[in-house]
Amino acid sequence: MSTLSFPEEKYLTRRVLSMQESQTMRISNLANKMKAEGKDIVSLSAGEPDFPTPDNVKQAGIEAIKAGFTRYTANSGITELKTAIVAKFRRDNSLEFQENQIIVSNGGKQTLANTFLALCQEGDEVIIPAPYWVSFPEMVRLAGGTPLIVHTSLENEYKITPAQLEKAITPKTKILILNSPSNPTGTVYDEAEVRALMRVIEERGIFVVSDEMYDMIVYDGVRPFSPARIPSMKEWVIVSNGVSKTYAMTGWRIGYLAGPKWLIDACDKIQSQTTSNPNAIAQKAAVAALTGNQEIVEEHRAEFEKRRDYMYQALNSIPGFKTSLPKGAFYIFPDISGVLGRTFNNVVMKDSADVAEYLLKEHFVATVPGDAFGAPENLRLSYAASIESLEKAVNRIRSAFQ
Ligand code: PMP
Repeated sequence: MSTLSFPEEKYLTRRVLSMQESQTMRISNLANKMKAEGKDIVSLSAGEPDFPTPDNVKQAGIEAIKAGFTRYTANSGITELKTAIVAKFRRDNSLEFQENQIIVSNGGKQTLANTFLALCQEGDEVIIPAPYWVSFPEMVRLAGGTPLIVHTSLENEYKITPAQLEKAITPKTKILILNSPSNPTGTVYDEAEVRALMRVIEERGIFVVSDEMYDMIVYDGVRPFSPARIPSMKEWVIVSNGVSKTYAMTGWRIGYLAGPKWLIDACDKIQSQTTSNPNAIAQKAAVAALTGNQEIVEEHRAEFEKRRDYMYQALNSIPGFKTSLPKGAFYIFPDISGVLGRTFNNVVMKDSADVAEYLLKEHFVATVPGDAFGAPENLRLSYAASIESLEKAVNRIRSAFQ
């Protein structure tokens, strides 16, 4: 065996060395390892619905295989799927796009990565409200851009205000990222709030990347409002979405992007030289998801809402935990600053990473520390788990901090 040790820094690029490992994946991996060792872990760390993919969708995948639909497709996705996506935008979001303004990619992640590769480079700043979804800053860095983080507050339901946005803009600002409903906070911006933010940036040459991945998982009658609905912003807004969360299809890897044709063409070019088309079978399944009976979407949404209600009241009753009421997605993001600095079972809770590790190793509950989302005093809990699991988790958390 060679005794040579390879100094990574010497060979790896600055690009990858400056990236952070996905924290959500790290905790999930550790939880899985403990599970494999036979530990009774309640995992609230995953970012995916616990429901199975609907039968009609699975069936469409099976049919696609049987019919031999197993070859390369058009790089940007099959027309049948683009037509279904155009109809979805009209039906669910009151947005009008043409098929040539759509590209289908390997999950929402790839649509976003393509967008940042196409739009930002050295010298460009991208405004990202925190708490943010873990991958935004890393994708921007990978593309050579500079993330500019704007911290929001629990008191303002973790929403960036127009005044904060105005203050963050510099001559280098290229993009504002909005993610409503938000992972990790569950925050949803209403129409008036979106309009107020757009008034700050319109006619200033700033793009909005609107990640609407959780658009159909919303509560209390709230409807998310896409910035792409504002006529003056139409050429400046890029909408990213996918079938992963709405149709419990995380493993199928289908996401889609809608926006100005020139940008979609640029993403098409990047995709054609990197991954080519997304999986052919999964594209057929996505057509079935988007055009089939939509009752399942409401069933899942209603179930998530019950769990949200339970988690909100249960977590707020734990001393040291404070949480805003999530209006969408399936995460709750308590501020746990009340337990930081204290000692439990001889373990000092310096930050949320200590808390997550303590909960996992000593109380067998997997959560994700808020550092990963730019909020070191918070913890992300996913309620894409049965009520029984949620109750078990909450009881363990309560006793962990007694
Ligand atoms: N955006 C947000 C806000 C997400 O939470 C996720 C999934 N965690 C994605 C995009 C990516 O979704 P996909 O699995 O389709 O790549």
